[in-house]
Amino acid sequence: MTTDLNFSSAFFEQFECPICFEYFKLPIHLCSLGHSICNRCKERSRNCPQCRQPFIQNSRNISLEKIFEQVSKRCKFSECSSEVTLDQWHNHQSECKYNPNIKCLECGSSEEFLINHLVRNHEYKEISMEQNECLRSFSGPMASWHSNTEWPKGIWKFGEEYLVVKAKTHSGVFHVYLYRISKNLIAISLEITNQDTGACIKFKGDIPHISDYVDLSTSPHFNCEIKQLMTFIKVQEDEQDTYKLSVKVKKKDIVMYIEEPIIEESHLDEFEEHAIEELPLDVFEDRIIEESSLDDFEV
Ligand SMILES: [Zn+2]
Ligand SMILES: [Zn+2]
Ligand SMILES: [Zn+2]
Ligand SMILES: [Zn+2]
Repeated sequence: MTTDLNFSSAFFEQFECPICFEYFKLPIHLCSLGHSICNRCKERSRNCPQCRQPFIQNSRNISLEKIFEQVSKRCKFSECSSEVTLDQWHNHQSECKYNPNIKCLECGSSEEFLINHLVRNHEYKEISMEQNECLRSFSGPMASWHSNTEWPKGIWKFGEEYLVVKAKTHSGVFHVYLYRISKNLIAISLEITNQDTGACIKFKGDIPHISDYVDLSTSPHFNCEIKQLMTFIKVQEDEQDTYKLSVKVKKKDIVMYIEEPIIEESHLDEFEEHAIEELPLDVFEDRIIEESSLDDFEV
């Protein structure tokens, strides 16, 4: 195995695809003017993206491939001592435990600027939130409330702090997933009110950091049964068959309240009487369980 000890950066540049600027994805293809293009970029284009000449049928740059397979390089994160072959380079950088970047929750790639990446590649929309309180809404035809629906994805900007927002309706439950990008702890409350009856449901909790994201099924998040939400979903005045749920979003820097236990279905009658109830994030249930296990250590 050849290591990078004696090689300059100009040497490694020879293994970068001129189109995607990443190390080649094998096999390496040639155009009629001799440009080397990685397999990933070849599949996306008919002509050489550099000179517009057609690719030669079945052409390969085999000698470059052979050298490529022999070369390895020290991982780019200074604390990491791994020697990485160039074909594993991209995978290693995204998996490397010294990588300070954030893993994209949609495609898994490791991103220094996750917000830009989400907007450009995954149809997230940036939304400025006025101060620390803002009204947001989810609207769509009635069917989108009753069938399985992925709502448009967003990034809520509170000044310099960003929250990644995903919402879906699934099996009769409305889910809202929030992740913070900044290191600072953030608590969010979501409040929905029925203007006619004054009834109100409030959810609140600490927002998990995006780096703790594993998958949606295990993420703590806000959720509520659709049948419970129905009295809060209103037909939009100007558009027929558009049903809207308005949510008041409030941001707090830290949580300064004691959690109420989550309401169970059997308490729904009680819930209606009280009109205002607070539902915490699922995560608080777990915490309560953890705390009770402290007894194990009591003498
Ligand atoms: Zn390429
Ligand atoms: Zn070319
Ligand atoms: Zn590494
Ligand atoms: Zn992505």
